[in-house]
Amino acid sequence: MNDLFCLRLGVTNCYLIKGSRGYIMIDAGSLRKEKLFQSLLMQRGLYPQDIKLIIITHAHYDHIGSLAGIKRACGCPVLAHPLEAAIIREGEVVIPPGTNILGTAVSSIGQRAKSMLAFEPVDCEILCDKEYHLDEFAVKGRILSTPGHTSGSLSLLMDNGNAYVGDLAFNWNGLSIYPTFAEMPAEIYSSWGLILKEGAENIFPAHGRPFSINRIKQNLEKLNRLAYGMA
Ligand SMILES: [Zn+2]
Ligand SMILES: [Zn+2]
Repeated sequence: MNDLFCLRLGVTNCYLIKGSRGYIMIDAGSLRKEKLFQSLLMQRGLYPQDIKLIIITHAHYDHIGSLAGIKRACGCPVLAHPLEAAIIREGEVVIPPGTNILGTAVSSIGQRAKSMLAFEPVDCEILCDKEYHLDEFAVKGRILSTPGHTSGSLSLLMDNGNAYVGDLAFNWNGLSIYPTFAEMPAEIYSSWGLILKEGAENIFPAHGRPFSINRIKQNLEKLNRLAYGMA
């Protein structure tokens, strides 16, 4: 059995990480991806019951669209930040502001299409707003609070240096890794600084391919140079 799978559910990479007592899943994809989820699992010789925990990095519709159905199939608890859990419980569709021209355009289209993005509300059993170790799920990793894309964004940092960061960084096109959307743009840099300090080596974003922490390091160094240059 492999230790790591990426399930592409709509536009979102959902990751399955193996612990010694089963898998944990990061995020639950776009709307109406429950059947795709089941067939991707089957292709890998897995069953929904093999998943022991679903971690939601944040409450945007492309990460929780199929959460209700996937949770029912897995019969496992869901972990989220309390701020995001409230949104998931209410079934509130949140469209974040863009951080560039493209993001702003997509965000305004999203605002008009909100009713089409409605998802089934879900109760999250495990609420986490600070560092949280996953020992009880036999997984060598911890949850970190990494606000910026949303106020309640979480990341999973594994002891092996793999970091599953949701939308804290994008890798759409191999160019900028700065998120196309963010509620708290300035916080992105401090959360990048945190995962760097805590030992992240490989970044697994929800959108785009994995990349090295060096790209985050270079961005932070550039920011520092600009800050000193302006002083
Ligand atoms: Zn998002
Ligand atoms: Zn997303």
